[in-house]
Amino acid sequence: MKYFLPFALPDIGEEEIAEVVDSLRSGWVTTGPKTKRFEKEFVDFVGVQGEAISVNSATAGLHLALEALDVGAGDEVITTPYTFTATAEVIRYLGAHPVFVDIDPNTLNINVSKIEAAITERTKAIIPVHFAGLACEMDAIIAIARKHGLKVVEDAAHSLPTIVGGKLVGTLDSDATVFSFYATKTITTGEGGMVVTRDPSIAARCKVMRLHGISRDAFDRYVSTKPAWQYEVVAPGFKYNMTDIAASMGIHQLMKARRFQQKRQEMAERYHRELADMPVQLPPAALPGDMHAWHLYVIRLSDASPIGRDAFIEAMAQRGIGCSVHFIPLHLQPYWRDTYALQPEDFPHALKAYQAAVSLPLYTRMSEEDQSKVIAAIKEILAA
Ligand SMILES: *Cc1c(COP(=O)(O)O)cnc(C)c1O
Repeated sequence: MKYFLPFALPDIGEEEIAEVVDSLRSGWVTTGPKTKRFEKEFVDFVGVQGEAISVNSATAGLHLALEALDVGAGDEVITTPYTFTATAEVIRYLGAHPVFVDIDPNTLNINVSKIEAAITERTKAIIPVHFAGLACEMDAIIAIARKHGLKVVEDAAHSLPTIVGGKLVGTLDSDATVFSFYATKTITTGEGGMVVTRDPSIAARCKVMRLHGISRDAFDRYVSTKPAWQYEVVAPGFKYNMTDIAASMGIHQLMKARRFQQKRQEMAERYHRELADMPVQLPPAALPGDMHAWHLYVIRLSDASPIGRDAFIEAMAQRGIGCSVHFIPLHLQPYWRDTYALQPEDFPHALKAYQAAVSLPLYTRMSEEDQSKVIAAIKEILAA
């Protein structure tokens, strides 16, 4: 077969496989003891004085967090257009509206200095997205939220583990933080996510709403001394619970999360060194003492590049290397563009970043030779 290096691949070992098999043999395949264990170990990993609520995707987790914060019809939620559509779609699930604020052209995170101008009487919350695994300016965002009485839900789909101001994302002063375990993310359960919160009322509401609005989950009913058939429906909830099969993977992926981050960081540093003289803008590193999760390594072709972005990705593919683009900004997508009458120039920095952005392959299963091939291909294409 012809050599092809994909843009991303999960890193799943024998430990994950054995744990999944153990769940399959146990007879308990849905939410149960493994899910409970994964949640407990997640709390320990992050070091939060609070709870971790596992769900079947980060999208579900973001939806639950906003629902628990009482975001509803007609409300506004401030977020970035430079994200995956999940960040904004959950706002629409609740009948509320996203209000997009352009990004900082250096970090590609929401431009904090533009948030206050977007706040209205209907603004209920802010969803900062830690793009690629580099944290937003959370102290400033939380200060703005406090001043205006707004809630903050962090979209941490890229940021396990990310450190900002010496603290792990998940322990900051937001109302809730939502992680993703999708196949391409820094750790994976196939599909999955985790809501972390220090607020017991948010945790309680998320737990009820993730399983049909039932006040006791199936495993609680199974182990409780009260009759197993007895439960109460207190709200029209959702079906967002994580399975023990997924949690079995998560338990072992979490144990490897720091090692995975180290490997990603080393690879990012090598890209930094080797691409320093190329006509590309390299992604910013975390501040000294902080940590970048390096979910993505996004370069931007500069004006001096001899080739455009689309042609560059095509040329990489011809050399057997998969690249991607993060993200097509939401204001260019038909639904968001048409629903809110958005123009490309409404968010000039998001537009410009998108037009030049290329996500290079960066994952723990890549070998040094794989990365050498990526670097050689870039040098060849950009030398033309
Ligand atoms: C992947 C991703 C999500 C959604 O995560 P799922 O677990 O697939 O639902 C949300 N936000 C961002 C920024 C993402 O990249």
